[in-house]
Amino acid sequence: MRGAVLAVGTELLLGDVVNSNAAWLGKQLAAAGVEVRASEALPDDLDVLVAAVHRHLSQVDVLVLSGGLGPTVDDLTREAVAAALDAPLVRDPRIEQQLRDRFASWGRPMPDAVLQQADVPAGAEVLENTAGTAPGLWLAQDGKVVVALPGPPHELRAAATTVWPRLAAMTGRVVTTRQVLVHGLGESAVAERVEAVVQLPPGVSLSYLASGGLVRVRFTTTGDPAVLEPLVAATDEVLAEHVWGHDDQTVEGVVQDALLDRGQTVAVAESLTGGALSTVLSGRPGSSATFRGGLVVYATDLKETLAGVPGSLLEASGAVAGDTAAALAAGVRERLGATWGLAVTGVAGPDEQEGKPVGTVFLAVAGPSSEVLEVRLPGDRDRVRALTVQSALHLLRRHLLAR
Ligand code: ATP
Repeated sequence: MRGAVLAVGTELLLGDVVNSNAAWLGKQLAAAGVEVRASEALPDDLDVLVAAVHRHLSQVDVLVLSGGLGPTVDDLTREAVAAALDAPLVRDPRIEQQLRDRFASWGRPMPDAVLQQADVPAGAEVLENTAGTAPGLWLAQDGKVVVALPGPPHELRAAATTVWPRLAAMTGRVVTTRQVLVHGLGESAVAERVEAVVQLPPGVSLSYLASGGLVRVRFTTTGDPAVLEPLVAATDEVLAEHVWGHDDQTVEGVVQDALLDRGQTVAVAESLTGGALSTVLSGRPGSSATFRGGLVVYATDLKETLAGVPGSLLEASGAVAGDTAAALAAGVRERLGATWGLAVTGVAGPDEQEGKPVGTVFLAVAGPSSEVLEVRLPGDRDRVRALTVQSALHLLRRHLLAR
C-alpha cells in the first residue's frame, strides 16, 4: 500500500512554521506498513490543493493531509477534498451540536464561521478531535483512502489515534523497529563493533542515526518482531557501558528513573545553560521526588555567593575551568541538600572567554562518586548550550548506572 503526505499551509512554504507534521505523519505511516512515496507542503490555494489531491491519488492508495481544517477563509482542505473527490460538502448535525456545546461550555458566543467545521464531504467519517474544535476526516472511495487532519500538532495527534491501527489492519504488514541508544562512541566506531557481532537475518535492516552526540542503532523488520531480540541483545553486549537506553527512552527519563530507584536527588549549578538543565530535570511528571533545584550562576560573583565556590579559586582558575566546575558541583550539592551536585560552566559563544575558545565546556558531578570532564562542543551558541545539557545528563547517568 502506497501513501503520500500533504501538509497544507502557506506558512509552511514561507518558513514561518517548521513542517514537523510531515515528519511525524511519515513515521506513523511507515510504522503502519504504508510505503510513503511523496511528501509535499502546499499553499492555502484551492486550485493548487485540488490539483495536488488528484495528482497524488492517481499514484498512491492513501493520502494524508494536515492543516487547513479550521474556521477561517484560508482553511480550504475540506473544500479541496470535496471538489477533488466529487463529494459535496454536507453539514454534519453531530459536529454542529458538539461545536455549539463546546462554545456554550466556554461561555462564549459561537462565530458563524466556526460552523464551517461541521461541513464534511459526503460519505466521510468524522475523526474526533479531543484537543480542539476542527475534527478530522476519513474518506474511502474507489479503494483509496483520504485522511484529513487538523494542523496544530497536538490536535493532529489527537484526531489521528484511530487512523494508524486502521491502516495497519489494511496493510497487514506492520513494521517493527528496535533501537539501541548509545553515547560516547562515534557512529563509525559503533558500526564497526555492531557489524562484527551481528548477522542480519533476511528481512531485517540495520541503520545508524547520529545526532546531538548520541548514536541510535536501529533494527527494522516487517516480519516476526521476535527476530530483533537477539540482535538487540548482541548489540547491548558489544557496546557495553556505552548503551544507555532503548527505543523511545530519553536520557532525562533514564536519569529520573535511576534516581527514583535509589531514592536519590540531584541539584544543579549552571552557568552557560542559563537554567536549561533545570528545565529538563524538572520537565517530567514526578520530578519533585528527584530534582532538588538549580542555581543559575551566570555572573562570576554569584558562583561564589550562591554556589560557594571560593573566591580565591575563581581568581586563580577563572569562571570557565575544571576545578571551578568541581567546586560548583560540590557547592550546590551541599547548599541544596542533594545526593548529587551537577555543574556546567563554559563558553557558549559567539566570543571566546578567558582565552578559551567557543565550545569549551567543563562539567562536574559530585556525590557518591565524582568526576570533572572537559569537552569541546561543536556548533553555534544554541547548539553548544543544548549539547551541554545532554552531556551533563549523560555524565550523571554514567555515575548513577555505574553503581
Ligand atoms: P485550526 O485552524 O483549527 O487551528 P487547522 O487544521 O486549520 O486548525 P492550520 O490553520 O492549517 O490548522 O494550522 C494551525 C497551526 O498549526 C499553524 O499555525 C501551525 O502552528 C500549526 N501547523 C499547521 N501545519 C503544520 C505542520 N505541517 N507542521 C507543524 N505545525 C503545523
